[in-house]
Amino acid sequence: MHNVVCIKQVPDSAQIRVHPVTNTIMRQGVPTIINPYDLFALEAALVLRDRFGGEITVLTMGPPSAEESLRKALTFGADRAVLLTDRWFAGSDTLATTYALATAIRKIGKEYGPTNLIFTGKQTIDGDTAQVGPGIAKRLGVMQLTYVAKIKSLDLAAGTIEAERRAEGGVQILQTKLPCLITMLEATNQIRRGAMTDALRAARAQIVKWSAQDAGIEDISKCGLKGSPTVVKRVFAPSARAERAALVEAAEQPAQALIEAIFTHQPQLETDLATLARSARSGASM
Ligand SMILES: Cc1cc2nc3c(=O)[nH]c(=O)nc-3n(C[C@H](O)[C@H](O)[C@H](O)COP(=O)(O)OP(=O)(O)OC[C@H]3O[C@@H](n4cnc5c(N)ncnc54)[C@H](O)[C@@H]3O)c2cc1C
Repeated sequence: MHNVVCIKQVPDSAQIRVHPVTNTIMRQGVPTIINPYDLFALEAALVLRDRFGGEITVLTMGPPSAEESLRKALTFGADRAVLLTDRWFAGSDTLATTYALATAIRKIGKEYGPTNLIFTGKQTIDGDTAQVGPGIAKRLGVMQLTYVAKIKSLDLAAGTIEAERRAEGGVQILQTKLPCLITMLEATNQIRRGAMTDALRAARAQIVKWSAQDAGIEDISKCGLKGSPTVVKRVFAPSARAERAALVEAAEQPAQALIEAIFTHQPQLETDLATLARSARSGASM
């Protein structure tokens, strides 16, 4: 099995400010991180690889500095990283981004083996459009499952996948055929810590760097600012509200519900605590 995970390097939105005069985003000095939603996608791909074997290629389109995010993704256990970087991509809107990424995914399939699943996050924390995943699926002509909370089953022989999708007002169980693109919902898993061997491998890894030409882009006019019909008319910071809601009463959360919520988000914690308790018990009985 070969799966591709698309990750985007984004400015840490918790530290972003909008310039009070020009109304432009002040990026200087703002640290960059892997788009948090993409880590749920990466973990979902890692879980499948644990079960079915195969390889994971992480892909990003961005400036040369985006290499840092790819290296980080390798520390979590991805097998290979591809950086799509070229001045022709500067100023890309979602239409141009999906063109470049879909072309690169085709090439990844040719170079490293046919792709079964393509993962993206649900959305980014900077652009926030949630258009890129579905746009890639459309361009590649593959099926798409969006807002996926859980992959319920995967049958490689039959070429089918079944997933739980959180929709408005309920949960849908959907089945479709491979290859397929999945946009992964937030808070559906917890990215693993990554093994020491992965960290060492990541530090030394050769990141594959492709220009537009290397990726096989045929029509450069579909890339970057030229290929971007979207016009941003205005960027502004919402003005702070004077009134605030008053806290009338803080509801107490029952301890059991709180513990269950913690274990859902940190499944490893439950196992670790059980192991600790076991070893404490066996120490006491000695
Ligand atoms: C006119 C215009 C000019 C722009 N110029 C620039 C620019 O110069 N530089 C710039 O950084 N942005 C620029 N942008 C923003 C750019 O459009 C978005 O960053 C990009 O298209 C992704 O959209 P999004 O962030 O809404 O992703 P979403 O659709 O919200 O992302 C969904 C998922 O798609 C995947 N994904 C998204 N983007 C990438 C990527 N680049 N690589 C790999 N996977 C990805 C991730 O898995 C992500 O979770 C511009 C936008 C416009 C409208």
